[in-house]
Amino acid sequence: PVLRVAIMGLGGYGSRVAEAMQSCVKAKLVGVISGTPSKVKDWQSKYGILEKNCYNYENFDRIIENPDIDAVYVITPNALHHDHVIRVAKAGKHVICEKPMALNAREGQEMIDACRKANVKLLVGYRMHFEPKTLEIIKMRKNGDFGKITFFQGLCGFKIGDPKQWRLNKQMAGGGALMDIGIYAINGARYMVGEEPVWVTAQETKTDPVLFKEGVDETIQFQFGFPSGATASCLSTYNMNNLDRFFLNGDKGFAELQPSTGYGPIKGRTNKGELTQPVTTHQTVQMEEMAGIILEGTPPVVPVDGEEALKDLKIIDAIYLAVKTNKKITLNL
Ligand code: NAD
Repeated sequence: PVLRVAIMGLGGYGSRVAEAMQSCVKAKLVGVISGTPSKVKDWQSKYGILEKNCYNYENFDRIIENPDIDAVYVITPNALHHDHVIRVAKAGKHVICEKPMALNAREGQEMIDACRKANVKLLVGYRMHFEPKTLEIIKMRKNGDFGKITFFQGLCGFKIGDPKQWRLNKQMAGGGALMDIGIYAINGARYMVGEEPVWVTAQETKTDPVLFKEGVDETIQFQFGFPSGATASCLSTYNMNNLDRFFLNGDKGFAELQPSTGYGPIKGRTNKGELTQPVTTHQTVQMEEMAGIILEGTPPVVPVDGEEALKDLKIIDAIYLAVKTNKKITLNL
C-alpha cells in the first residue's frame, strides 16, 4: 500500500517535502491545498496532480468526499496549524503537521483530542527522529555505551533575514526562535538523554528590539533537570550563525553531532570514533517511515505522534514562563 498525501501550504518547506517525496516508494504526493491558484498550476504540471485533488483554504473540508487522499501534510505558518489540523481531522484524513505542532500546550491537546475523536492518526514532522547518526547515538546510549548520562548541550540558531516574514510576527509564529529552531534542542535533549525533564530555568537576551518585537524571542538560554540527575543546557537564537550542535556526555563516553539538525549532511562522532551511518534526505526517509506508521502501524524508534509534540509544547510554555517569572518551573510530563 502507498500513503497518498496532499500537502497544505506550498511554501518553502512544502516545496522541499514535495521534492523529497519524489524518491519515496511508500508515500506519494497526490494533492495540494493552497490559496494561490498559480502555485497549484505549477505543482499540477510538476508532479502530475489531478484537478480533483486540488483544494483551497475555503473548500478543503470537502476532502472528506475524496477517497483518493489518505493524509494531509500541514505545512502552513505555526499559528494556523491548530485550525488546519482540526479541520483535516474532521474531514476524516490522517494528519502530518509541521513543528511546532501548535502555539501552546492547550492548542496541542485540542488537536490530539480532535484526531482521536475522528479516529485519524496525528504525526508531527520531526525529521531528525529518522536520521541514521541520531538513531545510532540513541542506540548506543540505550546500550550503555556512554555509561550513566550526565549532561546534554544543544545549540540551535541562525541569523534570520527579512523583517517582514511571518517568523518575526508574534501572531503567526507564536513567539520567536524558540518556536522555530529552539524546539530542536528541546526535543533533542529528550531523545538524546532518554528522559523527560522535571524542571526548567530560562533566560532571555534581546539585542535588537526593533527586529524582534514584543513576544518574539531573539535568544533564550534554557536549562533542564532530569530525574536521574542529568542536566541540559541549551541555546536558541535568531541572531547567531553556525549554531547547530548537540553534545551528550556520560560517565563512560560522549557523542557529538555538528551539524546536528540542519538539512545537509549530519556529522558526528563518539568516544569510539566517527559516525559513519549514511547521509539521507531527511524528508524522504521521514515520509517513508510515516507511511509505515500510518498504513502498517510500524512503531518508530523515537515517537513522532501528537503526544510527543505535546511534551515539547508543555516545555515551551514552561520556558516562556520561566523567562517571564525568572523562576524555576516544575514539569510533569
Ligand atoms: P513559508 O512562508 O515558506 O510557507 C508557508 C506557506 O503557507 C506559504 O505557501 C503561504 O502562502 C501559506 N499560507 C497559508 N495561509 C497563510 C497565511 N494566512 N499567512 C501566511 N502564509 C500562509 O514557511 P515555511 O518555511 O514553509 O514554514 C511552514 C511550516 O513548516 C512552519 O510551521 C515551519 O515551522 C515548518 N518548517 C519545518 C521545517 C523542518 O525542518 N521540519 C523546516 C522549515 C519549516
